[in-house]
Amino acid sequence: MQLGFIGVGNIGTPMCRHLIEAGHDVLVFDVHPSNLARMVSLGAQQADSPKAVALACDIVFSSLPGPREIEHVALGTDGLADAARPGLIYVDLSTNSPTVAQRLCATLAAKGVTMLDAPVSGGVAGAEQGTLAVMVGGDANAFETVRPLLQHIGANVFRVGDSGSGCVAKVVNNMLAFVNSMAAFEGMLLGVKAGVDPQILHDIVQSSSGASWAMRQFPHKIFAGDFSPGFTIDLAHKDLRLALELGDELSVPLVMGSVCINLMRQARANGRGGNDLSGMMQVLEDNLGMQVRQPPKGN
Ligand code: NAD
Repeated sequence: MQLGFIGVGNIGTPMCRHLIEAGHDVLVFDVHPSNLARMVSLGAQQADSPKAVALACDIVFSSLPGPREIEHVALGTDGLADAARPGLIYVDLSTNSPTVAQRLCATLAAKGVTMLDAPVSGGVAGAEQGTLAVMVGGDANAFETVRPLLQHIGANVFRVGDSGSGCVAKVVNNMLAFVNSMAAFEGMLLGVKAGVDPQILHDIVQSSSGASWAMRQFPHKIFAGDFSPGFTIDLAHKDLRLALELGDELSVPLVMGSVCINLMRQARANGRGGNDLSGMMQVLEDNLGMQVRQPPKGN
């Protein structure tokens, strides 16, 4: 079975690598030449457009920044739709708008292509280890066809429901992750300002009722002042915007999410959008003129 993969950035690269390591031939396309070259060095073949990928492949995956790029890859010039034929399956692993995912799915279905929205969670580290959660919306038969491939990418593969529902689960999850992160950062800052050692505070919270994924994931980066991505604040802002748009569509108030997106706006206004999500701590640090840093043990 010939596979395709479009968009091999921070998280696409390890996901694509797992498919190659599982013994599949993978044809890749990316607009970023060095990302494409890195994937070729890992064993992929290179194509010059999404259309060329779709023409040659039975199943095409993508991992793209957001709705604009996904729509362009699917329906733009030399896009997947130009190579549409019955039987082609398109699995979008990106975090997309549920509404856009449903619209693309319907448009491609009219040309015989089955599209699944299959966003992932677990970060670049989870992608490296093959332990991502994958949440899939769309046709149940196509899901069964791609499930064994998704199991190379993620340890927990869920079918959520109809088209768009994978994206709903994903934007809800990410809104929770961001709100939890800001709460964890705020708590750390308060404790450290009051004189408690950051590492001791972290260890206490992680074994107490304030524990969270964010508290487990981020302190090593914050303590080292290392805000290289990972997962950028720009992408997190995009995801939270998608959640708030869904809240708008359904008239669901999202108070915590709204606070959080304003803090993300502040980070982006200060030129920090390209930093890792853990760099949201810097927004709070700037407000207080202090930093939460901890030299590595042994120094
Ligand atoms: P990234 O920016 O590192 O990678 C995106 C890739 O898509 C880049 O290589 C870019 O060159 C390529 N690209 C952009 N436009 C393109 C186009 N028109 N045609 C072909 N290639 C194109 O982003 P990422 O961090 O790898 O995230 C990818 C997706 O996965 C996003 O939707 C993100 O929200 C989601 N996600 C990321 C993480 C993470 O930890 N990085 C975690 C979960 C979900």
